[in-house]
Formats: sequence, structure tokens, C-alpha cells
Amino acid sequence: MAAFYGKPLLWLQAMPYMACTVDELPPLRVLIAAPRGFCAGVDRAIQIVELALERFGAPVYVRHEIVHNRFVVDRLKQLGAVFVDELDEVPDDRPVVFSAHGVPKSVPAEAQDRKLTYVDATCPLVSKVHRQAERLIADGRHILFIGHAGHPEVIGTFGQVPPGSMTLVETVADVAALEVPDPDNLAFLTQTTLSVDDTALVVAALQQRFPAIRMPRSEDICYATSNRQAAVKAIAPDCDRMLVIGSPNSSNSLRLAEVAERMGSPARLIERAANIDWDWLGSPKTVGITAGASAPELLVREVVDALRARFAVTEEQADHNPERMVFKLPRELVA
Ligand code: SF4
Repeated sequence: MAAFYGKPLLWLQAMPYMACTVDELPPLRVLIAAPRGFCAGVDRAIQIVELALERFGAPVYVRHEIVHNRFVVDRLKQLGAVFVDELDEVPDDRPVVFSAHGVPKSVPAEAQDRKLTYVDATCPLVSKVHRQAERLIADGRHILFIGHAGHPEVIGTFGQVPPGSMTLVETVADVAALEVPDPDNLAFLTQTTLSVDDTALVVAALQQRFPAIRMPRSEDICYATSNRQAAVKAIAPDCDRMLVIGSPNSSNSLRLAEVAERMGSPARLIERAANIDWDWLGSPKTVGITAGASAPELLVREVVDALRARFAVTEEQADHNPERMVFKLPRELVA
């Protein structure tokens, strides 16, 4: 108890050294993008780990970060999840969950061979791309896949098709250098978390070079990625600085920072309030805040509170149409 009561005293002792009293804090308008934060796929993946822990007890193994957010991963670790890189780190008698980014077909196949209990938390929108890839290969097409090398979603999607039947395209420059087996028998697909604008340029270059290329039936960049980028575009012109909450390995969060910068608002990707670079932030009139699809709202509130400690904050939530997407949970966990 002594330590608990000691904290406010220490804080009060620090007050005389602060430049301003609360009344004198500089004004700051904080514009909060909407929508932001958790998408339906991330929400579902986290619930799957929580339900697996309830159903099977701890430890439950999770292959790769269930979603790309350290805060989420650390919380699940505390509940009894154990994160591993590969299946050979999972004991035969414990269940394993596959991450929201999707896995190559070889992974569930190996789990079946070992008779492991496994639950697949792949986002249904990623699974949709997997099924499209299979259909295109069955039609005899070679697939050009627009995505980022090394991202787990890209590795998972390449693992749905035979080696050599899909080629990665990252940039417009890659399109010019492509060598393909048959230019009249191509199709393209994309990663779900790309920049909408960059992807449009790559698609235009593909269509120009390969006029017969088959388009996906519907947009592969997911609703959450598109909506969060549009929300940043809506507020960025009014912002002197933009704080994007997300992990450095979160593709959709990185794209949000890029979008803000292109709209003229210098942006920083931060994992949480402790990462705010106050020198860089300076003395802005308006700061924008958004959060990637794997970042919890709690971290948005933490950042606003950190700003409140240094500025007299006026908070504004951007208008938006609420997202209503919900994905079903796997039957084996809710039956
Ligand atoms: S960002 Fe999109 S594809 Fe990724 S988990 Fe969320 S809804 Fe699914």
C-alpha cells in the first residue's frame, strides 16, 4: 500500500519543475480517425486463442504472432499462450492455433500427420484469396501476386499452390522486369493489407503490359485496410502530425503512416504512448491519431492521455459509417 500511495506524491514533487500548470498547457486539437483499430479478422483470431485456452487449458501453442501487435501477444502470453515459429516446437499433446495471416498447406498437413489438435485462425478474407489461387491454378493460369516479400500472409498464399506457379510482384518496376511463361494466360491476386493507391498503380502497369491478364472477381485488399486508409486521408490534411499506433511488422499500420505522409502530414508509427518522440511532435496545433487493424483501442486512449499530460487537448472523433463485419468462429470452439 505504501508504494501505491507513494506514486501521486512523487508526481506532485515533480510539478514545480514543469514549465506550465495545467491551466497554462498549450492547446492541442486531437483528431481521431474512424474507423481505426481492430478489424473483424483480428477480433476473431484473438477470440480463437482465448476460447482455445478455455477449452483446452494452458498452454495453448500459437504458430507465429496471432496478429502483429506486441501488446496483444503479451496479453495472450499472460493467459497461457505460447508463441512459436514452427510446428516442431509444439509438443504432441498440446493444441496449436495458426495465425490470422494464414499458413501454407504444408502446415495443417504436418499437424494432421502428427495428430495434433489444431485450430486455424486464418482470416476468412485471406482464406478467400487462397481459394481464388487454387481455382486459378486449376484453370491453368500463372498467378502474379502483388504483395510484400517475406510477409507471413504472402508465404501462406504461396504455400497454397505448386512451386513456380506464382510470381511475386512488389512494385511497378517489377512489372517491367517480369518474365512469364505465357502472357495470355495470367491472373493476378493481391495481399489483403496493401496500399490501395500503390496497388492501383501496379495493377495498371500489369494491365498495360499484359492486356489479357485476369482480374480477381472482387477486391483482394480487405475492407478494413481500405477503410482505415480512407479514414487517414480524410483527416490528414488538417493534421500537423499523425501518430499511427501499430507494430513495426504490421503491414496495414505501415501503410497508414505512408498514406498520412503522402497527404502532407508527417507521421510516426508507434507501438504505444511511451514511443512518442516529443521533440519530433514539437508544438503542433492539430495531431491526428489512428491505429492499425491489430492495435487495441486501449492504446489509442493511452496516447490521448499522454498528450493530455502536455497539452490542453480538445478531442474530436471523425464521422464514419460503422463497420458491421463479423466472422464466425470455428465450430470446434463454439459447439
Ligand atoms: S486486416 Fe483484413 S485481411 Fe487482415 S485480419 Fe483484418 S479483415 Fe482480415
